[in-house]
Amino acid sequence: MIDPFGRTISYLRVSVTDRCDLRCVYCMSEDMTFLPKADVLTLEELDRLCAAFIRLGTTKIRITGGEPLVRRGVMALFDSLGARLGAGLAELTVTTNGSQLTKYATGLRAAGVKRLNVSLDTLSPEKFTAITRWGKLDKTLEGIFAAKAAGLAIKINAVAMKDVNEDEFDSMLAWCGAHGFDLCLIETMPMGDIDGDRTEQYLPLSVVRARLRKTWTLEDTDYQTGGPARYFTVAETGRRVGFITPMTHNFCESCNRVRLTCTGTLYMCLGQDDAADFRRPLRAGASDDELDAAIIAAIARKPKGHDFVIDRRENKPSVARHMSLTGG
Ligand code: SAM
Ligand code: SF4
Repeated sequence: MIDPFGRTISYLRVSVTDRCDLRCVYCMSEDMTFLPKADVLTLEELDRLCAAFIRLGTTKIRITGGEPLVRRGVMALFDSLGARLGAGLAELTVTTNGSQLTKYATGLRAAGVKRLNVSLDTLSPEKFTAITRWGKLDKTLEGIFAAKAAGLAIKINAVAMKDVNEDEFDSMLAWCGAHGFDLCLIETMPMGDIDGDRTEQYLPLSVVRARLRKTWTLEDTDYQTGGPARYFTVAETGRRVGFITPMTHNFCESCNRVRLTCTGTLYMCLGQDDAADFRRPLRAGASDDELDAAIIAAIARKPKGHDFVIDRRENKPSVARHMSLTGG
């Protein structure tokens, strides 16, 4: 699939649920309303859509959410997608908050998942609970080490927040190095109404990188995961550190992805509202050919890029939907 700007679209991110067992302050408000079950695609419907994308040239699928591992029966989807590895699909992966990994790490590895991203913004138990509202650091760490023991490669994702975890990046980089994990830092994006003030949270990663360089040797690398992160090798640990900078650097030129929500809505850009609905055709009995044609038509509408801005006067998000719906 090639979009109007010549970009090959080979990466599908699938949010399998909008629900979550945590309430991270930058992602959700405490009293989130979730979608009614009837609006959410069944795992079979999600599998059928994924199969259509694979037919059309998708080689990488990331399962995300909400918290993907709280969706009931989700391992059946991993198993069915895993069975497509080597038959069009080259990589199946997942982004998780880690809380369910003690239960599922072995099953994920058995399904063919080789690496996963775990979101962890802090190594302080108190801060962890403050950021996630409902989480316990120990549970997430147990999950991370269960995944490591199951043979999964791990990348830790941390959202950089001013005055919250900005004093911890040195220690997190050391911790990741000691355990053989990569670390990826993310700028807060203005998505969805939350309870707090985002302009207070925003911390440009250019500042973080300059600070890290005082302690660590960050060597340029051309390592690419097909994602928007810019990676460096940390000479002292041999692991990588990545920076995702949607606010300070526009990474849209090399965008290779689209995002499917759990309701069957395809967003061609994380930062734009245009979308294509696949639930209706799926439930109206569309044939494989009709689904393929609808996907191709949607890719033809992929916009050139996002234009995230934080409106400092209004403190309104530039995209109204939450990250947990589109899938981070
Ligand atoms: N629940 C899973 C998790 O936390 O890893 C998967 C979904 S979560 C929405 C995916 C990623 O999006 C997480 O790493 C989270 O930190 C990030 N995220 C959520 N809201 C964000 C925001 N407003 N700005 C930047 N990153 C955000
Ligand atoms: Fe849940 Fe992930 Fe959002 Fe945190 S970032 S509330 S873990 S979906």
